[in-house]
Amino acid sequence: MATILSVVTLSPTAIEMPSGPKRDVAVDDYLTVELLCAGLAKIRLDRQHALEGHVPDGRDPSAGLLPRAWRTGFTRLWWVGHHQSVNWPQDDLDVLAACRLPLGEWPVRLALSGADLDQSLLEGDELSEFSEQASALAAKTDVEAELVENQIFAQLLATAQANGRTEEEVQRAYVELRLMHIRNPVLSDLDVLRRAQQMPAAGTSGEPHFKQLVHTAYRFQQAPGGAALRVCGSCGNPMPGVDRSCQVPGCQGSAVQKSLRTVEGYWVQHRATRRFHHDPGLVEARIFDAINTLPKDLVRLEEYPGLDAWDGAVWFRQPGSDQAECWLFDAKDCVSATLLGRRFTCDRRLRAVHRFLVMANHRATPAYFADLGRELDGRVNGVEVVDEDTFIRRVTKRSREVGQHA
Ligand SMILES: [Zn+2]
Repeated sequence: MATILSVVTLSPTAIEMPSGPKRDVAVDDYLTVELLCAGLAKIRLDRQHALEGHVPDGRDPSAGLLPRAWRTGFTRLWWVGHHQSVNWPQDDLDVLAACRLPLGEWPVRLALSGADLDQSLLEGDELSEFSEQASALAAKTDVEAELVENQIFAQLLATAQANGRTEEEVQRAYVELRLMHIRNPVLSDLDVLRRAQQMPAAGTSGEPHFKQLVHTAYRFQQAPGGAALRVCGSCGNPMPGVDRSCQVPGCQGSAVQKSLRTVEGYWVQHRATRRFHHDPGLVEARIFDAINTLPKDLVRLEEYPGLDAWDGAVWFRQPGSDQAECWLFDAKDCVSATLLGRRFTCDRRLRAVHRFLVMANHRATPAYFADLGRELDGRVNGVEVVDEDTFIRRVTKRSREVGQHA
């Protein structure tokens, strides 16, 4: 099997010498790391295309074989080495070898948080969880817009928009598709057919948007007449091994047998869908489920309000009034608190009494909160950072207060 290393033995990165003043000492090492991660993700994507027989297109032929993000990251790293009087890195292979080491063991010193210095960018020949999340966060700033996770998201939005005539209908379609990615890592062809009938809108090619989304986010498995699968009893991911616990961070599930009714077969999420849409969405789903157990006449949940401006809005009936009180929340499950804190933006278009950034329980350590708080401090105001249990307790308490006044 081809490895990440095997595609980068050609075309060493040229070091671009800046013509302006010398590098700022307060250079941002996080950006360098994000660029390298985005570069690794793009190298992996190109490798997959090469295995499938596609030639990567849209690439500037003068740019060499390595992605732009990687080359920029390499150049920035070279300048770090230059300033620290370390003759490193000399070529791309130096950096690729370092990618397997914790960032704190690189020949140059990087200004990263203590927790992030323990992370490495590659685990074997695959991107680490840290690295995948860093590349996704970098991709939001359009470093490598063609990454699969972004294509899935664009398809999802296009499908929702094509299948609603009003803002409410688009919103409803959007919520259904987002939840499909979180709650349905496996879909039988009958499920897909039923959903396709509910979302029939087609694009200019004549193919329904929903079908294109399924083709982008899932792959087909032949299984005429039905299938018996081993999946995680909690998050639903397929589980190949026997008697193993689920590998998804924070998931406590273990394998169960699931039978599917099919005509020809079933659809399973691609790795990118699982890593960027399904797994990190589980914390949202747990919070949605907990809020939905509360009395509906006191608390109402709105999922992904404003097409995902926030993960959720919780509406409490205002005691003695027809008005409702709104709390907004974003639920996050990121390896790096610093990267999350640097990229988090608070959307203020929706009005609310309280806004929360909710950490998945398995991330919520004092050190994690400290790193996150340091990045948010002074940049993001009016947002409380809590873990998921605390958030659910607060929502439950508020609903009781509202109930006592009813
Ligand atoms: Zn699981």
